Amino acid sequence: MNSPPQILIIEDEIAIADTIAYALKKEGFAPQHCELGEDALSKLRQDCYSLAILDVGLPDLSGFEVCRRLRTFSNLPVIFLTARSDEVDRIVGLEIGADDYMVKPFSPRELVARVRVILRRAVGSVISASSESSPRFQIDEASHRAWFGGELLDLTRYEYLLLKALLSRPEQVFTRGQLMEQVWAGAEESADRTVDTHVKTLRAKLRAACPHVDPIQTHRGLGYSIGRFS
Ligand code: CA
Repeated sequence: MNSPPQILIIEDEIAIADTIAYALKKEGFAPQHCELGEDALSKLRQDCYSLAILDVGLPDLSGFEVCRRLRTFSNLPVIFLTARSDEVDRIVGLEIGADDYMVKPFSPRELVARVRVILRRAVGSVISASSESSPRFQIDEASHRAWFGGELLDLTRYEYLLLKALLSRPEQVFTRGQLMEQVWAGAEESADRTVDTHVKTLRAKLRAACPHVDPIQTHRGLGYSIGRFS
């Protein structure tokens, strides 16, 4: 039910990558590894990750370039790894969208601790601190935008509101009537079909963002709920 958060390690030094992967696995994460920037980008496009650990010095693209291209399609949290303290200025100073960085040599335990902090922060940005929702969903209420697995979702107004309503109480079953009330308050549409239609299109968009998960559950005769991903 709860799949462990997938972390992509992009690092050409195998010994370092193995050490990180080991530390992550021990703490319940599902690490994957690749050595080249181009491979990383195609994996990041296809699969659903919660965070990337990105070495600045890769054999093909620089980590900066990987991050820059990643930001054109995703806001996935990134922790940079660097061997040179002079690169730190670039990571901190430039707007390349890094969430954190570590200078080699570093303690894998410290790295894992920072991964936790960032994923928790991602959770915290969802709706409110009280709703323990998933690190896989992010909602920015100010701009009415939502991300799933780091991918920005192209949602209509009602799809966005529906998602927000479901995420406000993960695992709680909402009846169609409750969803109508929360999402379509004041709108003059007819009930059940409206909810079903929007759940269907929302599901398709979530599937497009993360093909391997189906977070919305249908409860026959009752309504819908959304899973808790942590
Ligand atoms: Ca390297």
